[in-house]
Amino acid sequence: MSRFWSDKVRAITPYTPGEQPRHERLVKLNTNEFPYPPSPKVLEAIREVDGDALLRYPDPESLQLRSTIASYYGLEVEQIFVGNGSDEVLAHAFQGLLKQASPLLFPDISYSFYPVWADLYGIEYQQVPLDQAFCVSVADYRGDVGGIIIPNPNAPTGIALALAEIETLLQNNPDCVVVIDEAYVDFGAESAAALIRTYDNLLVIQTLSKSRALAGVRVGCAMGHPDLIEGLTRIKNSFNSYPLGVLAQRAATAAFEDKDYFRDTCARVISTRGGLSSALRAMGFEVLPSSANFVFARHPKHPAETLASELRARGVIVRHFGQARISEFLRISVGSEEQCEILLSELAEIL
Ligand code: PMP
Repeated sequence: MSRFWSDKVRAITPYTPGEQPRHERLVKLNTNEFPYPPSPKVLEAIREVDGDALLRYPDPESLQLRSTIASYYGLEVEQIFVGNGSDEVLAHAFQGLLKQASPLLFPDISYSFYPVWADLYGIEYQQVPLDQAFCVSVADYRGDVGGIIIPNPNAPTGIALALAEIETLLQNNPDCVVVIDEAYVDFGAESAAALIRTYDNLLVIQTLSKSRALAGVRVGCAMGHPDLIEGLTRIKNSFNSYPLGVLAQRAATAAFEDKDYFRDTCARVISTRGGLSSALRAMGFEVLPSSANFVFARHPKHPAETLASELRARGVIVRHFGQARISEFLRISVGSEEQCEILLSELAEIL
């Protein structure tokens, strides 16, 4: 606390990012990074950047990257926005599109950054409870609504909504923006990008931090009607007009271009997730059905907090949230086959 803090700084409760250990050799299954390196073509694209490219400011419009994403999804470049990680893109959407007279709705169990941005920007919000099975019930999102944001698949549950349900949500709420946060979509859910031409109130947000193995580069994107994209661009150009450096733009473009590598490595993670889920169930865990690159699991006899700290002592880090309804669960990122084997053998000993 400092006497120089503004009222705003005094009032906010910031988001707590997952631990990024600096020195220890740990099996890191706590922040849902991809377990394999990015495509070799990404590394090549970074190596090809020369000094001349670095001494100048980058393209403020990230045109090449946006065109590549547009053609990947069969959209126009005016329908694509990019930013410094999807966290930045989400923050701009909160400030530029979701701050309205009526409250913003999002699930009670969801990405814990949402209430932080809502508080930062003074947005009134209501958290809509997931049902008994930890699923989003789209019928609960209607009435006096200023905006909706839902991750698909949801985090930290990993449970996905079908595209038809997202379409119902859009039809029920034509007068507010519906944001679908698709951070984990490539691991088993269907992208709502296919609905963008039909619904002018839909904004789909994705990240290159998970399925494209670029968490360290910080690139996220939004897709939607050109007017929504223009709204985000107005915020960006009132905040930081060069959010993506040259290296980030080149790396992200190459990642979208290498479709084969993307498809094959995601398939590996999905296959590892199946084995990990079965093995955890065999140990007595209840594992929610995951469409993401993590599993959410609880053991009827062993408190999650204790399991997390015992695993930590053995060099394996997983994520535990001390929040109501989910404090008995562990969120475990799907690592490489080898990392998952280490996790399972340490867990077997602890149990
Ligand atoms: N949305 C969800 C649901 C997430 O879990 C994360 C990762 N913490 C993000 C967005 C942000 O990812 P990034 O800023 O790395 O793109």
